[in-house]
Formats: sequence, structure tokens, C-alpha cells
Amino acid sequence: MQSVALLGATGSIGTSALDVLARYPERFRLYAVTANTDAKKLATIAHKFEPKVAVIADESKLSELKQELKAMGCPTIALGGHAAIDEVARDEKVDIVIGAIVGAAGISSTFAAAESGKKLLLANKESVVCGGAILMDLIARSGAELLPVDSEHNAIFQCLVGASAEMRSNAKILLTCSGGPFRQRKDLTNVTVAEATHHPNWSMGKKITVDSATLMNKGLEVIEARWFFDFTVDRINVVVHPQSVIHSMVQYEDGVIMAQMGSPDMRNTIAYSLGFPQRLQAGVEPLNLTDIRTLTFEEPDLERFPQLGYAYKALEMGAQAPIVLNAANEIGVEAFLAGRIKFTDIALVCRSLMFGFRPAEPKTLNDILELDVIARNLARNWVDGYCGEQI
Ligand code: NDP
Ligand code: MG
Repeated sequence: MQSVALLGATGSIGTSALDVLARYPERFRLYAVTANTDAKKLATIAHKFEPKVAVIADESKLSELKQELKAMGCPTIALGGHAAIDEVARDEKVDIVIGAIVGAAGISSTFAAAESGKKLLLANKESVVCGGAILMDLIARSGAELLPVDSEHNAIFQCLVGASAEMRSNAKILLTCSGGPFRQRKDLTNVTVAEATHHPNWSMGKKITVDSATLMNKGLEVIEARWFFDFTVDRINVVVHPQSVIHSMVQYEDGVIMAQMGSPDMRNTIAYSLGFPQRLQAGVEPLNLTDIRTLTFEEPDLERFPQLGYAYKALEMGAQAPIVLNAANEIGVEAFLAGRIKFTDIALVCRSLMFGFRPAEPKTLNDILELDVIARNLARNWVDGYCGEQI
């Protein structure tokens, strides 16, 4: 029986993870669940799974969480605050941490789980983007086991099973990308929030759905792949594949391509990483290739989607640049969702910060967290100034 802490239990990945965990009660026991503000949903999850602990990051919601649990007669202990999330990530009673918090808010709990040598199933790509080599060194030293939940990285992981170090060092990653909802739309200036939060193939949280529309998501995934698999950036190529059937590929030195295919349902990748090296049933309809019939591939358009190019550039610029890019993007997306800036302005915030702000390279987790805060404040100022000019 393995004990699981599910960070970000109320989100899209959290919901998929709970669905998979519920299929294997004899194998996994939910020890802790966390959320940001959604006390009601967290209490409902606790009532169903009876974990030992439920943590709400927003401390002003702690009394609501306690009341909800009490009303349901649920014995789960309620805790509040970000530090309590880090505590459950390093709790010695926890074997597996599923990192499904959205954004840079997930960095410190990822580090906490990594430092404590956990089996870490990571969906929170922003912590790999920002943590980079510092996170990977920590994992190597602590003996933590890192398994990718992001579908592309999970696919690459599967395509690399059995490859020797030499085979890996001569291989290329072909990271697939659906192209998002605007793959064929020429003018993106008037994209609405409703359009940008509707993905053609995947059902996901709001932030990643907007990132998929700008292709920032693919940019973050290029950086994520660089660190997850230790591939140099010249060996990570993006291929637009609108059907989202192939979740990514590895091309070996003989030119042969290994591809992983499946239905676009995150329960597949969660089940694979939970069961690895075994395969678990995820409750997903098996893929039927004769229903799909056609698979197509295109080059990404870096002119309409400049944020993908910025991600490659950030990797060249040094360890500070992905943190700045990620923070600028998070603030840009937030401002777009709030109706303050246009869809195309998200790229402007990113460009302005990445090329206008050149901080020192971070060396520690604290440096990363501090830089994230500074970059966010600069991005907020940029948005405020920009909105001021538009009035
Ligand atoms: P959601 O927005 O659906 O869920 C986010 C979760 O994180 C919620 O539980 C939320 O709590 C919690 N959370 C949000 N902000 C904070 C905070 N400041 N502190 C602590 N907890 C917080 O996101 P997704 O599930 O879509 O994405 C989660 C991660 O997985 C992201 O990094 C994303 O890029 C990655 N990912 C997601 C995929 C998907 O299919 N959804 C696919 C591949 C990767 P609350 O509900 O209270 O707000
Ligand atoms: Mg992905």
C-alpha cells in the first residue's frame, strides 16, 4: 500500500488523479489533499477519500474548510497556508507526491518532495521550467524518483524506456503540439477569453488552456523536456500534430521514430506514472486508429506564436530567463483573463521582461522564489503602465 499526497486536488489534473486512485484502493491510500481557495470542493474530496490531512493554501478559507468537514462528519485534519503544503510534500508517511498545482505556486512543494526523496509525479511544469538544473541536481542527490505527468513528457519517457545513455545522447525529441484553437486563424488581435479558453482536443484548467492557445505551453514544455530528459535544446523539435493522437516521439540516430499514441485523457499518463513499470487501467476508452484514419504534421508558426521562440531563447540566455519568462506569462495570462489586455499582449509582456530585465542567475531555491516575485511585480507594473497608456 502506497501513501499519496495529491497537491492541487481540486483542479483538472487533481480530478483525473482522484479518478485513477479510486480504481486502486488496495494499492494507493490518499494521505493528503490540497487546494488554493476552493474549501467546499476540498472538503467534498476529503469526505469521499478520508485522507489524514487537507490543506488550503489561502488561510482565510481555513475556518470554512473546518466547518465543511465538521458538517460532513469527516475526521480529516484541516490545515492552512503554503508552508503546510510543503510539509505534506515532505511528510515521512507519504511515498508518492502528485504535483498538480498550477503555476510557480507549485515550485516550493516540488522542491520539498524532491528534497525528501519522494516518488514525484509531476504535472506542475512551471516548477521544472523555473527549477531547471537546480531541481535536477537536488533530485539526483536525494534519490527522489521523478516521473512526468505532462502527456508529451510521459510519452517521451515511454519512448525512451530501454534506451542506453549512448542511444539517448544521439536521439532527438519530437514534441507534438496540437496547434491550439488558433492554428489556422490569421489575425489574433481580437481573440476573446471564451475563444482562448476552449481547447479543440483537451479539457484542462484555464491557465494551461490559454498557454496552449499562445503556444507558450509548448515553449514551457520545450524547457521542461530539456531538464526532464537532459537533452540539449538543439535536439528538441516541436511538430504540430492537430489530432493530438501522438503525444510525442523520439527519433533515434538511425532515423527511426518511436511514437506514443493514446486518447487525449490525462488519466492515461497519471495511471502510467503511478503504476510504472507496470501498466494500470485508467478507465480511458482504448484508442481506435480506424476511427481516426488520418494523422497530419506541420511546422509551428513562430510569427503568430512568438512565445514558443522565446522559450528556446530563454534556454540560451541562462537559468534566470525561464523564470522571468514564466512569471511574465503568468501575469500576462491573468491580465488577459481579467479582460485588461489583449490576447496578443501576453507575448508583449513576455518579450518586454525577458529582453528588458537581466537579473543574475539563481543558485538556490530561495534565489528562484525571489526572482519569481521580482519578475511578477515588474510584469504587473508593465501591465498597469500599458493599460494606462491605452486609456
Ligand atoms: P487547475 O487550474 O485546474 O487546478 C490547479 C490546482 O492548483 C487547483 O487545485 C488549485 O486550487 C491549486 N492552486 C492554484 N493556485 C494555487 C496556489 N497559489 N497555491 C496552492 N494551490 C494552488 O490546473 P490544471 O489541473 O489544469 O493544471 C495543473 C498543472 O498541471 C499545471 O502546471 C499545468 O500546466 C499542468 N498540466 C495540466 C494538464 C491538464 O490536462 N490540465 C496537462 C498537462 C500539464 P483551487 O481549486 O482552490 O483554486
Ligand atoms: Mg502537455
